[in-house]
Amino acid sequence: QCADHTSARRILLAGPRSFCAGVERAIEIVERALRSRTAPVHVRKQIVHNTHVVDDLSRRGAVFVEELDEVPDGATVVFSAHGVSPAVREEAARRGLDVIDGTCPLVSKVHAKARRFAARGDTVVLFGHSGHEEIDGIIGEAPGSTVLVESAEEVENLAPSDPQQVSYLTQTTLAMDETADFVDALRTKFPALSEPSSEDICYATTNRQEALEAIMEESDLVLVVGSTNSSNSVRLVELSRRKGTPAELIDRGSDIRPEWLDGVGTIGMTAGASAPPDLVTEAVEALAAFGPVSVEERELTYETTRFDLPGAVRAAAE
Ligand code: SF4
Repeated sequence: QCADHTSARRILLAGPRSFCAGVERAIEIVERALRSRTAPVHVRKQIVHNTHVVDDLSRRGAVFVEELDEVPDGATVVFSAHGVSPAVREEAARRGLDVIDGTCPLVSKVHAKARRFAARGDTVVLFGHSGHEEIDGIIGEAPGSTVLVESAEEVENLAPSDPQQVSYLTQTTLAMDETADFVDALRTKFPALSEPSSEDICYATTNRQEALEAIMEESDLVLVVGSTNSSNSVRLVELSRRKGTPAELIDRGSDIRPEWLDGVGTIGMTAGASAPPDLVTEAVEALAAFGPVSVEERELTYETTRFDLPGAVRAAAE
């Protein structure tokens, strides 16, 4: 914790950080829809949980709505990266809406598992955060068979109709350590638990947490670029604090408070999967305004995941 103000403050940039493949795809879907549709393009909910992304697309003509009743019959609507429940799809079909589905393919996989587990008669224990759009969509697949659990401690109170028929799913953007505690608690309570063949926490969430873990011990402070409703960004802040390094969530560089930097020689920086990379650059510039900085990239993994666009916009010009 040496506060040597004669030397530059060190910034360690965790990599991977910022946009994941699902977020890039969802944003590109809206951009292509704006170019290929003549009438207004509506987007149900925030396309991704980032204020800047939503403001930018709004300026370019996208109309963000909370629910489908705000979309005129027959109009174009994009579903957000977090997915929707079958009831929303059915309503859109009934209303003759031109639907373009921005759901991340990794969220769709969790939906498919929810349907499969419920169809075989399981009680599906879903670990996630109440009120998050992804959770609302997954519960909607089998509301009668799904039980939402928000902490490992709650597992103790579960009373499924048949303890021999229990399976589980998780939100894609949870903390890996907290999820491991949840799964352990579930295995202890239900020895016959059906284990899913793959984890639901996505590659981007995993990589961003591991990349942050690799730099946080060296850091006196961690700054996470992301919006307050971004689940994976908030998890990064919590992870750092849990492991003993103070951390703050910033939407942009101007949120950095000078008092956070008192006695801070090394700052670890990362960004949630929905935060644009240029906001990290901006945050580094904001730090440079408080004194000299040196910037080090610490890339732990190189991400190559890309997802195909849906047919509804594939033909639209890039
Ligand atoms: Fe998809 Fe993961 Fe990105 Fe969410 S964080 S959009 S699940 S890749």
